[in-house]
Amino acid sequence: MTEAQRLSEQVALVTGASRGIGAVIARRLAVDGARVAVNYQASEEAARQVAQGITDVGGEAVVMSGDVSREEDADALVKSVIEQWGRIDILVNNAGITRDRLLLRMTPDDWDRVLEVNLRGAFLCTKYVMPHLIRRRQGRVVNISSVVGIGGNAGQANYAASKAGLIGFTKAVAREVASRNITVNALAPGFIDTGGMVDQMTEEARKTVLGRIPMERFGSADDVAEAVSFLCGPGAGYITGQVITIDGGMVG
Ligand code: NAP
Repeated sequence: MTEAQRLSEQVALVTGASRGIGAVIARRLAVDGARVAVNYQASEEAARQVAQGITDVGGEAVVMSGDVSREEDADALVKSVIEQWGRIDILVNNAGITRDRLLLRMTPDDWDRVLEVNLRGAFLCTKYVMPHLIRRRQGRVVNISSVVGIGGNAGQANYAASKAGLIGFTKAVAREVASRNITVNALAPGFIDTGGMVDQMTEEARKTVLGRIPMERFGSADDVAEAVSFLCGPGAGYITGQVITIDGGMVG
């Protein structure tokens, strides 16, 4: 089996794949041979470019809009994947947002929206995908959590709670579906340079952050996508309910 055939015939849904880590995960799964649904909420043109990039190199991809935090959208998203390809094998719950503020300034709306997208969104997508995985008695779910869900971070109480919640969700669902040959795992990335936040840091902030990373570099979206590819591949079939940190040794 060549690398390119590892996931051939398989169908993957990657939420929040219009840019950043999700876009790189979508491309990686396509390189592995999967047909990929590129979900976005608002950035349609960016999502189209991700899908086009995949088809340009001989892969198969379609864009699918939907706010993962809305039940009707999550349901429709999964139905669209089934209509398109007749099956689904892989779900990557990647869509995520931040609304950072210190606790005393955080509004209930800041709290609710982050929990809605990051945690409720993963719950809804997993809930609607799961019957299809159970029917085929195979499937992989990968939830993109964060080291902040393990170690916390000042100014991110809502985000940390959502990402810690995602870890508990991962472990509980992994136990529910293990006997059906379905694995559910979480990745906890540290500082990943996707051209946004890391680029905007002052030189001093960069130095401070790098000083906390034993490997003395930021991670890349490829570092995360590589782990997703592994967890979705044939070699990871006996790994479930795990959290893999991808942080250059920061959290330990
Ligand atoms: P990003 O560049 O901000 O991209 C977020 C993606 O999520 C976009 O495609 C966005 O699409 C989509 N999205 C947002 N709200 C959505 C919703 N309600 N429904 C569907 N899609 C939605 O983020 P990123 O930095 O690549 O992060 C991706 C994931 O990794 C997140 O879960 C994040 O928490 C996690 N993570 C990131 C880092 C890091 O250092 N970057 C570290 C640890 C964990 P639209 O533009 O269309 O809204």
